[in-house]
Amino acid sequence: MQIIERKQLRQKPAGGTQLGFGHYFTDYMFTMKYTADKGWHDAKIEPNEPKPFDLATSIFHYAQGIFEGMKAFRQPDGSIAVFRPDENWARMNRSATRMCIPNFPEDVVEEGLEELLKLDRDWIPAEPGTALYIRPTIVATRVMLGVHASTEYLFFIILSPVGSYYAHGLEPTKLVVEDKYTRATIGGTGEAKCLGNYAASMKAGEEAEEKGFDQVLWLDANEKKYVEEVGSMNMFFVIGGEVVTPALVGSILPGITRKSCIQILKDKGYRVSERRISIDEVIAAQENGTLDEAFGTGTAAVISPVGLIRYRDKDYTINGGKMGAVTKMLYDTITGIQYGTAPDPYGWKKIIK
Ligand SMILES: *Cc1c(COP(=O)(O)O)cnc(C)c1O
Repeated sequence: MQIIERKQLRQKPAGGTQLGFGHYFTDYMFTMKYTADKGWHDAKIEPNEPKPFDLATSIFHYAQGIFEGMKAFRQPDGSIAVFRPDENWARMNRSATRMCIPNFPEDVVEEGLEELLKLDRDWIPAEPGTALYIRPTIVATRVMLGVHASTEYLFFIILSPVGSYYAHGLEPTKLVVEDKYTRATIGGTGEAKCLGNYAASMKAGEEAEEKGFDQVLWLDANEKKYVEEVGSMNMFFVIGGEVVTPALVGSILPGITRKSCIQILKDKGYRVSERRISIDEVIAAQENGTLDEAFGTGTAAVISPVGLIRYRDKDYTINGGKMGAVTKMLYDTITGIQYGTAPDPYGWKKIIK
């Protein structure tokens, strides 16, 4: 793989809890181009610097683009661990297919990521709860305004040292059930990590924040009845000893943290159901005292306890607004594997020396 070195390295941020999420970027990036005649080609590592684009570039107009999110963790022995990257590449190619983007060779980007992490390894923060966030993205780069799939693309990976996703860290989050706007519909693009999904969700997110909530809890678009997910997290509820997460019906993003949690729960003997769950069932369980816990799962936030849900102007405080035992077990298990303070029985980590 070609590596173009930079002359001067960037100033690194102060680290720790001040990092926030997605504010700082490392020295290098991975890039690869696609053209109809050459296919995917010209994979390389180059200095992370701004790139000029013609304003008629199709990504600016029709959002034909996809992304991924994963994390690299500094291990006690100084090596680097990436959590389940194969799952991310596979999902990214599924997103690509949905968005008419040509599938990319997973081995090439995997090698690119490895080289990139080796070059930028000093950017991986060491404090507990921090990580190096990995953002692979594909954008349509053909300069043309017709509404057609592009014939040219840019694949890139940028890296960002991050602290916790929410400003309040592991404090339980507050969600408001969204019954006006919708995130995704069956047959739409909710299953794909495509750019437009997130633009479409910002209005609801902004209104939720104005009311003092962290994010919205989305319901299904048809009936506004079934719980789907949160903007960047899948949802779980612990109801009377059963751990329930909404089934992947086509409008929900199939999270890798979600999949990992289901496996851990099953292996530890919990009763886990992937099924449709209505917001009425959640509220009824809360009211009759059987809703023990609610939490969200995602790469950025890891496992995030939900302390309060507002539905139709009523606030429901879950588990006294505190993190529950199942939530804590999953948080400890997953972060133990990620940070290398516990064994990795599933072989989920890719280790880079
Ligand atoms: C990325 C994402 C998730 C979480 O997926 P992970 O693979 O666990 O990071 C959940 N919901 C949405 C809408 C997402 O974009």
